[in-house]
Amino acid sequence: MILSEAEFHDASTLEQAAEMIARWGKQARFLAGGTSLIVDLKTDRYGAGHVISLNRIAALRGIASVDDRVRIGALATLNEVATSDVIREKCPVVRDAAREMASPQVRNLGTVGGNIVGAVPCADLPPVLAVSNATLNLWSPSGVRNMPIEAFFVGPRETVLRDDEVLTEVLVPHSPARFGAGYARFGLREANSVAVAAVAASLQLKADGSVAQARVCLSAVAGKPTLVPDAHTALAGKVLDKNGLDRAAQAAIAAALPISDLRGSAEYRRELVGTLTRRALLTAQARATGEK
Ligand SMILES: Cc1cc2nc3c(=O)[nH]c(=O)nc-3n(C[C@H](O)[C@H](O)[C@H](O)COP(=O)(O)OP(=O)(O)OC[C@H]3O[C@@H](n4cnc5c(N)ncnc54)[C@H](O)[C@@H]3O)c2cc1C
Repeated sequence: MILSEAEFHDASTLEQAAEMIARWGKQARFLAGGTSLIVDLKTDRYGAGHVISLNRIAALRGIASVDDRVRIGALATLNEVATSDVIREKCPVVRDAAREMASPQVRNLGTVGGNIVGAVPCADLPPVLAVSNATLNLWSPSGVRNMPIEAFFVGPRETVLRDDEVLTEVLVPHSPARFGAGYARFGLREANSVAVAAVAASLQLKADGSVAQARVCLSAVAGKPTLVPDAHTALAGKVLDKNGLDRAAQAAIAAALPISDLRGSAEYRRELVGTLTRRALLTAQARATGEK
């Protein structure tokens, strides 16, 4: 399909967006920054005849600390996330991921909502949001559904989002004391290269320094962001040390279901998962203990 065959429409409110999507159904797609969608339309992945821009819907913008959490509007750009004081202070791991993504040009257009809804297995924001205990608000004319981000993904480019739903915002709880999170990612170049493998990790420590809760989430090594419950089992109740790092790394490797492609073999990706898990956990520990 050449792009000129698609009709573009602007929605100014969520209600208008819902009305338009109801009119054209599977023939229509929502547009945020367009950094993924335009490529997909040009390569005819969807064959959509109608593109509905969400960009005039003010309610989808902004990043703010509200009560005990950070609200990130679905239209917040990757660059806004990377440069936000609120994100830097309240959930620095989300900033870490945004700063490593794509290139300045793509970060200026690409949005948080598009990164999540696109459900590409190597997307960078879902794993860091998952270990940060983030939830999503999905709006439709029949109401708002709120769910943990990890429940949103079904498989590659597949989510539980219904056709009439819009992702409106991501909610990230403020970190309690002794909480820290880290992100370790491997790409083939410094910029404009998607992750070959990536691991996000968070630790909630007790007052004595032992682990109360560990969350590890893998990216680019399975069809969807993959939490590793066995990493928590490997670390809970103990102070993180070399043995703990090794046990968590083994649990992460066991949970990975990598493919071989032009960026790396499955075997190489498994090896990366072990190393990246250790790195992400060490950053999480340093943040949880106030070292950085
Ligand atoms: C050169 C290049 C490099 C890239 N590098 C990276 C990278 O390093 N890491 C990475 O994770 N990604 C990368 N990407 C992918 C992409 O840029 C990001 O995923 C970006 O965040 C997508 O956001 P967008 O606003 O452009 O989405 P769009 O292209 O506008 O939309 C993507 C999908 O989400 C849907 N959608 C968007 N917003 C909503 C909403 N609020 N509600 C419901 N549906 C919605 C659209 O209908 C579409 O199906 C790269 C892309 C390019 C072109």
